[in-house]
Amino acid sequence: MNPVLQVSIIVLTIIVGLAIGSFLNVVIYRLPNDMSLSKPASHCPKCQHPIKWYDNIPLISYIILRGKCRHCHTKISFRYPFVEILNTVMWFLCLLLFTNLIIPTMECNWIKFGVSLVACSALIAIFFCDFDTMLIPDVLQVVLLICGLVLLLDDPTFDNILNKVLGFICSGFLFYFVNLIYKLIHKKDGLGFGDIELVAVGGLLVGGLQMIYALLIACVGGGIILLVLTAINKKKDKEYPFAVFLTIGIAAALFSGDYIVNWYLSLLR
Ligand SMILES: [Zn+2]
Repeated sequence: MNPVLQVSIIVLTIIVGLAIGSFLNVVIYRLPNDMSLSKPASHCPKCQHPIKWYDNIPLISYIILRGKCRHCHTKISFRYPFVEILNTVMWFLCLLLFTNLIIPTMECNWIKFGVSLVACSALIAIFFCDFDTMLIPDVLQVVLLICGLVLLLDDPTFDNILNKVLGFICSGFLFYFVNLIYKLIHKKDGLGFGDIELVAVGGLLVGGLQMIYALLIACVGGGIILLVLTAINKKKDKEYPFAVFLTIGIAAALFSGDYIVNWYLSLLR
């Protein structure tokens, strides 16, 4: 590829990654509260002053304003630039793993690259929505579902279709039954329906075998952290967001699931 075009794509990925990260902050705050994504325009939550475009440049405005509102000097949460950086880092990983622009020996798949960008941003939004409100907006699940279907059509081989369709059905049913058993014992839901939907679409997105790896990360990592939190917290029936851990597992499977599954299958052979 032409080196100028190559560098342009890398720079564009970083700039658009920051801009979409900034948009994700709006999505994370407004979607669970059933607010419009376009109106009202961005404003300071404290003094309600509209934020001018030059104070709304991802990352740069935060640094120039030293994390404070220009008008009332209220501190702006570090979460905003963090989400922008996180989205950009994940987009850069997509560039690294699904194209050959940075590592020439990598297999280049532009469809997987594009779909993964959307999926990563949706996973970040789900992570923070669930963390803040314990709700996963349906539209974000639909975005992941569409990403999964596009990847399925991109590689319509029997093995791939089988792995992903089984991933969708088995992951969903597994969590459905886990919740059912929990409900029989404790007389209340252990998992939200959003969590069950998320593992199903996650299975379709990354594949059934890769989803085992994702669930291992989510359940082991989440289990340890939740055990510690439950031990610290006096209120024993406090609920914790589980989709937070699921999104980390699904993202890990999206990036490294194929490598892990191939490595494991090679051991069995
Ligand atoms: Zn203000």
